[in-house]
Amino acid sequence: KPIVLSGCQPSGQLTIGNYMGALKQWVAMQDDHDCLYMLVDLHAITVRQEPAALNSACLDGLALYLACGINPQKSTLFIQSQVPEHAQLAWVLNCYAQMGELNRMTQFKDKSARNVNNINVGLYSYPVLQAADILLYQANQVPVGEDQKQHLELTRDIATRMNNLYGEIFTLPEPFIPEFGARVMSLQEPEKKMSKSDSNPNNFVGLLEDPKKLAKKIKRAVTDSDEQARIYFDVKEKPGVSNLLSLLSCATGQSISDLVPQYEDKMYGHLKGDVAEAVVSLLTPIQQRYHEIRNDRAYLDEVMQQGAQKASARATTTLEKVYKALGFISVT
Ligand code: ATP
Ligand code: MG
Repeated sequence: KPIVLSGCQPSGQLTIGNYMGALKQWVAMQDDHDCLYMLVDLHAITVRQEPAALNSACLDGLALYLACGINPQKSTLFIQSQVPEHAQLAWVLNCYAQMGELNRMTQFKDKSARNVNNINVGLYSYPVLQAADILLYQANQVPVGEDQKQHLELTRDIATRMNNLYGEIFTLPEPFIPEFGARVMSLQEPEKKMSKSDSNPNNFVGLLEDPKKLAKKIKRAVTDSDEQARIYFDVKEKPGVSNLLSLLSCATGQSISDLVPQYEDKMYGHLKGDVAEAVVSLLTPIQQRYHEIRNDRAYLDEVMQQGAQKASARATTTLEKVYKALGFISVT
């Protein structure tokens, strides 16, 4: 089975962007892939987090993964900081990543512009830790949203560089980016991607938000000032409307080309109402399962413990291979 690895940061409440771009694909891949899914708390601290909030965001995230359909019997489900090999391999990879490469990363540019008071070294070397996450498990496929494509390319470059120096120690991973839902846009500023850490909560829909509130947010989404209010898919000309169409398509499973004719004589308000309804029906059962799971701390602890053990056993194999290749002395 191909090995699949992916994760989300517990840097806030997961959004429908994270669901469409990542979680939805993760669930679908479980049967015919060997999947590892994690919450990347080491990544989350590249932006300042309040400790109590980070702690509960990890548990919330884990419960949400389970509620969305990640099955810990099928997939390895774990918290990144509970598997020390991630930080260990990241250090090594830091010594094989070039400043010039990291300088080109657009996520760093965006996030450092938004966090001018805390442009820390971790934020800069974020993609190197991500490379470690992926290479540790010799992952073949990485289901991500489009924003992570550049980081995946960097991972491949670092892996290729080390393979050329030391022999085939790493598998080269391929990004797996869905055709629709790979880039859910912000509701109020549809030229930028939806992000859970956005300072304006009207820009995103959290997976755990109250259905009435989230429907309101969707109905207030920015569209455009086209007087004829035409509804068609064109990301450049109609970013807001196209985003609503994508959301509707992902939530209902209908293709965009099937949806567009249904709105020929309709107003933006109709479309928004339908999107709100579709997202509410998608999220309602997920939220119900979430609340049951989130209240069962013993179960969550068991999932975390078993997941960390399984992940660590696999990660160790790669880390030992790397240490040996570098010339580090083994005591075992
Ligand atoms: P943050 O603002 O803290 O970076 P985020 O919303 O970007 O949060 P991440 O934890 O960075 O979420 O990303 C988790 C996964 O979700 C990644 O695979 C990423 O590509 C995907 N993803 C994030 N935002 C979107 C989006 N707007 N549309 C589709 N996929 C997304
Ligand atoms: Mg992000």
